Amino acid sequence: MALLEVKDLQVYYGMIQALKGISFEVGQGEVIALIGANGAGKTTTLHAVTGLLPKKAGTVTLGGRDITKIPPHKIVEMGMAHVPEGRRVFAHLSVYQNLKMGAYIRREKEEFSRNLEMVYQKFPRLKERRNQPAGTLSGGEQQMLAMGRALMSQPKILLMDEPSMGLSPIFVNEIFKIIEEVSAAGTTVLLVEQNAKKALSIADRAYVLETGNIVLSGNARELLNDESIKKAYLGE
Ligand code: ATP
Repeated sequence: MALLEVKDLQVYYGMIQALKGISFEVGQGEVIALIGANGAGKTTTLHAVTGLLPKKAGTVTLGGRDITKIPPHKIVEMGMAHVPEGRRVFAHLSVYQNLKMGAYIRREKEEFSRNLEMVYQKFPRLKERRNQPAGTLSGGEQQMLAMGRALMSQPKILLMDEPSMGLSPIFVNEIFKIIEEVSAAGTTVLLVEQNAKKALSIADRAYVLETGNIVLSGNARELLNDESIKKAYLGE
């Protein structure tokens, strides 16, 4: 059984259909990439899965439980964390306070300290800057904070929206290395990326989204060598 299963998902913005009945699966322990051009529907997919957007049709199942109509905060409690596009850290709160917000479902003190230490270990820069307002961090550091905040809830599955956006190549490499580590430590990952090359290089499998439809899917390594993918998404 897949950890996350999306079936025939349709989402509208008013009269405009953004998702036209997409289906995909994320297996326990997998890293799945969802790639596609600007406006293909990648962010819409994540927002529908996390409960932030209403669905016109289709189902979303997490660990065998139907979460199609469950509100976002309950979905977080069920083990899904979301790192949104553009980071969305709380700019006026300190790094530490941002991390604390991510742990609101983990109220036990010892568990909180353990998770905080784990995040600081992964992101030593966040530890150094723990008392600094999050708004004063660089883009890459804010991406780390958004990831750290999501990890504070000890998610079974981490949904990431365009982690590479606006970052320098060095930071992109660093962030992707951490995604691999998080995956190796047992967290399942659904990664939305316009940087298809990077996403395919760390993913197990991938789905290609085009104007609200999944047009191609398969093994990430094979897609990396697929001629149509190379032309359309890898700039080759
Ligand atoms: P990007 O990488 O640019 O975020 P995306 O693949 O994530 O692209 P979405 O943001 O999911 O794409 O958008 C899918 C489609 O839905 C686009 O045509 C977009 O214009 C439309 N759309 C997105 N948000 C809204 C909204 N709030 N109201 C109306 N249309 C929207």
